[in-house]
Amino acid sequence: MHAATGNHGKIAAALQAVLSRAGGALQSAVFPPRCHQCGTLPRQWPAAPGGYPHLCAPCHAALPWRPPAHAPVLSAHIARLYAPLEYAPPVAGWVRACKYARREALAPLLGALMAAATHDAPPDAETLATPVPLHWRRHLWRGFNQSALLAESWRAHFTAAERPAPPVRHLLRRVRATPRQARLDAEARRGNLRGAITLAPGAEETIAGRTVLLVDDVLTTGATLNECAAVLHAGGAARVEALVLCVTEQAAITLAVTDQQATVWAHAEPGGSP
Ligand SMILES: [Zn+2]
Repeated sequence: MHAATGNHGKIAAALQAVLSRAGGALQSAVFPPRCHQCGTLPRQWPAAPGGYPHLCAPCHAALPWRPPAHAPVLSAHIARLYAPLEYAPPVAGWVRACKYARREALAPLLGALMAAATHDAPPDAETLATPVPLHWRRHLWRGFNQSALLAESWRAHFTAAERPAPPVRHLLRRVRATPRQARLDAEARRGNLRGAITLAPGAEETIAGRTVLLVDDVLTTGATLNECAAVLHAGGAARVEALVLCVTEQAAITLAVTDQQATVWAHAEPGGSP
């Protein structure tokens, strides 16, 4: 009985792979998509930028969304921050599974959630998106840079007319392996990163006078994003924005403070919050 079920599973998976290659419409006709969270087959999906949202309306609404007006500015280096969700269940579990359990298949769902964040005030069409870099050793060990996957998946959720240019993968380099940020406090994180990130050779030409959108999965203290943004500004970028999937509780506290400070920063959004 179990063997038969297992074989059916394998046949279904193989068929699904073939259909997936044949085209999305055919695949969804044979295997209508289910909600990723609760497994139901919704009669109507919630409206989502770029179509398929992966979650039914109740599961989508129940996510730990952040109030939209919060934290348009992260620091003097980052002119606008998109950060739609709190790092809380079920989002936190999806991020960890994508990153540590190599469940790259979660990237389209996470990209859809990021696209929802940029839908109302999308980055300028000329903006260069780039993932926060991993050190090559960690990249090798993990097999992929989850931020690069998220950047590509986020872009896929735009309509053809509005789609930003493909993310530029190698603008920044992590030249020094740093201890896992997750284990350090805010002060240690800043020290830990000093000099760890540089521009890739030739990147100055690409970023000169441009707006760069840094893409990452989780914002904790903002130390990594700030270091990347400082390097980009020093290399000639005109403006740096950031898009993260979610923020930790610690970051949410910092962001509440920066909201109040935003108006006095030289690089703050001209005219205030979007
Ligand atoms: Zn659901």
